[in-house]
Amino acid sequence: MSFQAPKGTFDWMPPRSEWALAVRDALSAPARRAGYGYIETPAFEDTRLFSRGVGESTDIVTKEMYTFEDKGGRSITLRPEGTASVVRAVIEHGLPGGPLPVKLWYSGSYYRYERAQKGRYRHFSQVGAEALGGEDPALDAELIVLAVDGYAGLGLRNVRLLLNSLGCRECRPAYRAALQEFLRGLDLDEPTRQRIEINPLRVLDDKRPDVQSQLADAPLVTDHLCGACKAYHEEVRGLLSDVGVSYTDDPRLVRGLDYYTRTTFEFVHDGLGAQSAVGGGGRYDGLSEMIGGPPLPSVGWALGVDRTVLAMEAEGLLTERPGTMDVFAVPLGEEARRRVFTLVAELRRAGLSVDMAFGGRGVKGAMKAADRSGARYALILGDRDLEAGAAQLKDLTTAEQTAVPIAEVVDILKGKFS
Ligand code: ATP
Ligand code: MG
Repeated sequence: MSFQAPKGTFDWMPPRSEWALAVRDALSAPARRAGYGYIETPAFEDTRLFSRGVGESTDIVTKEMYTFEDKGGRSITLRPEGTASVVRAVIEHGLPGGPLPVKLWYSGSYYRYERAQKGRYRHFSQVGAEALGGEDPALDAELIVLAVDGYAGLGLRNVRLLLNSLGCRECRPAYRAALQEFLRGLDLDEPTRQRIEINPLRVLDDKRPDVQSQLADAPLVTDHLCGACKAYHEEVRGLLSDVGVSYTDDPRLVRGLDYYTRTTFEFVHDGLGAQSAVGGGGRYDGLSEMIGGPPLPSVGWALGVDRTVLAMEAEGLLTERPGTMDVFAVPLGEEARRRVFTLVAELRRAGLSVDMAFGGRGVKGAMKAADRSGARYALILGDRDLEAGAAQLKDLTTAEQTAVPIAEVVDILKGKFS
């Protein structure tokens, strides 16, 4: 019997896996520089955290969760997203009683039972950032700028920002009613008609052309914002323009989670086909109370690592191989092997990336391995070289070879990479 990764999942293997690491690092770097602390929460939670915190009417809760009963009879769900867990942890640790906002970032695996296709997996990775307990347009704008800078740090040029405001407790009900009235007059199937009553905003997000074509005259949330929401949104837009972040106002942008209020945004990339969203986020002022916490107005985003790698590939950015070697050592003979082993350890301790040929292969196979490693130099040492006290250093780009005293190998190589 042989096994394969489960449907909708895949393995990150070298060298491509290096890009996944590089993406996690680059997407989180701006947030780390902006005072966001690292948080790690469990990969599974009490199912009710998500049914309440993500929303009973969302695709995630109705169709996509991996839910099971554990041996203690508890209903457990593999986390489909990160925000609910972060809010749960912040409440649990009493942070709302301290200095606010609490700024946190995270990176991890998420699980959704989705229709598997390119860019849509059942196990995927996100980098996320959340600022909890702050109601300030500068905080919304800060998070957006951090994400924009994260994508830019990877060299991506074609990530577009879509921006909207979903209103608040004051103005959303009137908009919701107006939208419901409009939607009830359309020709829609039964599940969609039910959705009108539970969560009409989500109908705007329906991707089917026959639904979209009927939505042209739908009332827009931006025409129904209260004064406070309008002013808040204007301030966010102004701050983004001040720092040179361009965006498209998208009055139809709603997102798949129930908890969003006011600022809502999505990052899209046009080189990815149907799975165009590389990240998204927004303000979720009511979430804390929905899961039993104190009022805690907050804003955050989650950026998809898998789709960001695909976006980089679409822009031809996966060419320069990350994480290659500096030096590849080739011992020829038993004595030389012991000496090389020590030299390799010393070089690594000096901060160089170094690998060596294992398994006593012949010189031909070992030099092939050196080439494949992408190393700049091959360090070759035979038993006879040992007696002479000199090793061969071969520049693998020019094929030029020089003899260097064994005692100076570490210093010489250190010098070449400093
Ligand atoms: P979509 O509309 O594509 O289903 P979403 O609104 O469900 O996305 P979010 O919950 O906002 O996505 O998650 C943030 C980001 O995580 C998305 O923009 C996307 O890049 C990534 N993501 C979400 N679901 C998946 C998945 N199943 N596979 C790979 N990446 C995903
Ligand atoms: Mg989704």
